[in-house]
Amino acid sequence: MICQQCGAANAEDASRCANCLAALVKSASPSAPAPAPQPRTPAEYTAAPVPNANIRNYLAESILVTLFCCLPFGIVALAYSSSVNGKSQSGDLAGAREASAMARAWCFVSMATLLLFIGRIAVQVMFSMLMAAATGGFR
Ligand SMILES: [Zn+2]
Repeated sequence: MICQQCGAANAEDASRCANCLAALVKSASPSAPAPAPQPRTPAEYTAAPVPNANIRNYLAESILVTLFCCLPFGIVALAYSSSVNGKSQSGDLAGAREASAMARAWCFVSMATLLLFIGRIAVQVMFSMLMAAATGGFR
């Protein structure tokens, strides 16, 4: 290996230079340069933990089902969805995910209630039309 002080060539296992007696440092050998820092890939950036994780709050869906579907269930969904952002910002990611799941569930309950309501009315209308036809109401 090459001496850093005087440039003299020494044995690979020598701890001191035979020419100037300076301590030989193996890592400073020019034949083994320090590895250059690798540029970070985009995947490493996305894999890094994000303090404010993007958790869906279903706020738009909750407002829609409150307006157009079932008001009491929609209000429950709204209460959960409005608490998602506050919980995720305060670091309570588990609570934010739970509130997000509850908001989604209540949106589904509200929509299902509306569909059942519409279906019930449709069945009643069809039934009354059938009854009218059977009793000669259309003749
Ligand atoms: Zn030397």
